[in-house]
Amino acid sequence: MAPIYASVDLGGTNIKGALAGPDGQVLCSRSMPTLSHEGPAAVLERIAALVEGLCQQAQARPAALAMAVPGLADVRRGLTKFLPNLPTQWRDVPVRDLLEPKVRCPVFLLNDVRMATLGELTFGHGRARPGATMVFFAVGTGIGGGVAVDGKLRLGPLGAAGELGHQIILPDGPRCGCGNRGCLETLASGPAIAAEGIRLMQSGLAPRLHELVGGDVSRVTAREMAAAAQAGDKNVEEAIARAAEYLGIGVVNTVVVLHPDLVVIGGGVARLGELLLEPIRRTIRQRVGMFPTDGVEVRTSLLGEMAGTLGGVALAMEGGLLDNE
Ligand SMILES: [Zn+2]
Repeated sequence: MAPIYASVDLGGTNIKGALAGPDGQVLCSRSMPTLSHEGPAAVLERIAALVEGLCQQAQARPAALAMAVPGLADVRRGLTKFLPNLPTQWRDVPVRDLLEPKVRCPVFLLNDVRMATLGELTFGHGRARPGATMVFFAVGTGIGGGVAVDGKLRLGPLGAAGELGHQIILPDGPRCGCGNRGCLETLASGPAIAAEGIRLMQSGLAPRLHELVGGDVSRVTAREMAAAAQAGDKNVEEAIARAAEYLGIGVVNTVVVLHPDLVVIGGGVARLGELLLEPIRRTIRQRVGMFPTDGVEVRTSLLGEMAGTLGGVALAMEGGLLDNE
């Protein structure tokens, strides 16, 4: 029988787990609340119980387990270093050493967006392009990223390489959660786009958007803005295009550094589709002058919300990629 692998996603709200085969076929999955206020030890107990439940359901045990974490993890030592959205921030929690005896298989950690990058590389757009150089932008509440060079995920010493949302686009721009100013994330994330939508609506410059959300600022999202743009709000359309162009500039910076075969846009904001992709492609054409970019494909994620889960399968299968460099 082919080996199976466990993929766990530790989120601030929910823990999701799945068992899958080496082809990425998911055998079973389940989720439960993280209850992160109970602290790392209790959360890890809950993860072990979730995996145990999956094993009973599948009548099989995984050969290895990969766990995606929302922040920084020391991939070589199996420690979480800084999970900003969880209480106590999980500084130096020896997750691997605590979890391995409970789940009785090797445990590997990786940042959640790098995990999604690996998923897209192994089972998504990268599958048909072995050896591809790929950059992945996860555009949602923030902007995460990941980089694969010549078919290999670039980890760096901590698994932190590829923070594409924190490249500086406007040196004096808005303050970012990372402490810097003018990072791509402050200009093109979901909340950054929505903030401009709210400003336009409150200034009376977005009548369709006002209608769509009933004037309720808490309902303004990039998706509602896309609908308003479609319905004729020129200013909203322009706001989305500007964010997309900033994203395009972030993409251009990676294109001149890496000349990737593939640029993949994931995360909730990727649902804007062509509204986002067209300005990115245009920005690449207009702003990369050093070499032809016809071969650079810009796509939305093929795997969508499954990218992280399948990235975990790939990471478990490949032994944590620890001999990747
Ligand atoms: Zn930043």
